[in-house]
Amino acid sequence: MIVEMRRGATQEQIDAVVARARKLGFEVQLNIGTDKVVVAILGSDTGRVATETFEVLPGVESVTRIMRPYKLASREFRDERTIVHIGDIAVGGPKVVVMAGPCSVESRAQIFATAQHVTRVGAKILRGGAYKPRTSPFSFQGLGDDALELLNQVRKELGVPVVSEITDADHLDAMMNAVDVLQIGTRNMQNFTLLRAVGQSGRPCILKRGLASTVTEWLQAADYLLAAGSTQVILCERGIRTFETSTRFTLDVSSIGVVKHNSHLPVIVDPSHAAGHYQLVPTLARAAIAAGADGLLIEVHPDPVNALSDGLQSLSFSDFERLMGELKAIAAAIGRSI
Ligand code: PEP
Ligand code: MN
Repeated sequence: MIVEMRRGATQEQIDAVVARARKLGFEVQLNIGTDKVVVAILGSDTGRVATETFEVLPGVESVTRIMRPYKLASREFRDERTIVHIGDIAVGGPKVVVMAGPCSVESRAQIFATAQHVTRVGAKILRGGAYKPRTSPFSFQGLGDDALELLNQVRKELGVPVVSEITDADHLDAMMNAVDVLQIGTRNMQNFTLLRAVGQSGRPCILKRGLASTVTEWLQAADYLLAAGSTQVILCERGIRTFETSTRFTLDVSSIGVVKHNSHLPVIVDPSHAAGHYQLVPTLARAAIAAGADGLLIEVHPDPVNALSDGLQSLSFSDFERLMGELKAIAAAIGRSI
């Protein structure tokens, strides 16, 4: 942590900063410049102390952290890349993993037809919402337990792993019996009770980025999962809220590189919720693979026009098939495969 003293700060004020740091068990280094003094506070665990601890002291101009506020998700903590294993599928390795399926599970026919189509053209994991966190309480909320039962049937009968969103820690037991990967949605990225419960379960999980969260906050949320004992965490960029209104959210492609630089966790991209429109989904999906994402989470529906949720952003079977062909070419161009 770096404490910058005000110009003209007194020796007494500087001494007070030094004394407080030493009292907390830290080492101190002083940099006495011509017009101001900077105090470097050193220790492997300065993260346990809030910056305000020093900001409140008289004569202090600013306090800046140089240690990252997240630990377990950081490359400093673990330099080797984490590979998340879902059955025999590895997320974070050389292969790009595509996960696809409807926003919500609607019927046995719908989920089986989608599973068969998306796996035939190269998707490895089926997505399907059972409990839907909708912005309006009057929108379709998902089939709940009935959807879990259908997901369980499809994974058993077709042998395809499934991912579904968990919205409440009370659903954990039921979901553990029905799905292979637990998704934490954008609106729950900072639901710390849920993060702890999912982390303790040890089940592979996908942590979506909060729609108004920084990458640092996202990695701090990942720390909750890792601190609870999980090692199987996949990050998912799904767009953030900006001033732009022509898309549902703004896909932050740079976050892929920022995460790869700062964290050992795999990162995938959901182009569907960012785009908000089926015509734009391929553009974002292609950009994500080119930028180095380890996978994609894409909404696909057998009949998007009549979907009960997110039909406008869902790809038809033929659009998904075409996109998969393009993605394979892009993956090959950067030395990966799908
Ligand atoms: C979803 O994947 O269906 C979903 C609701 O996504 P998000 O949490 O990113 O909005
Ligand atoms: Mn959706």
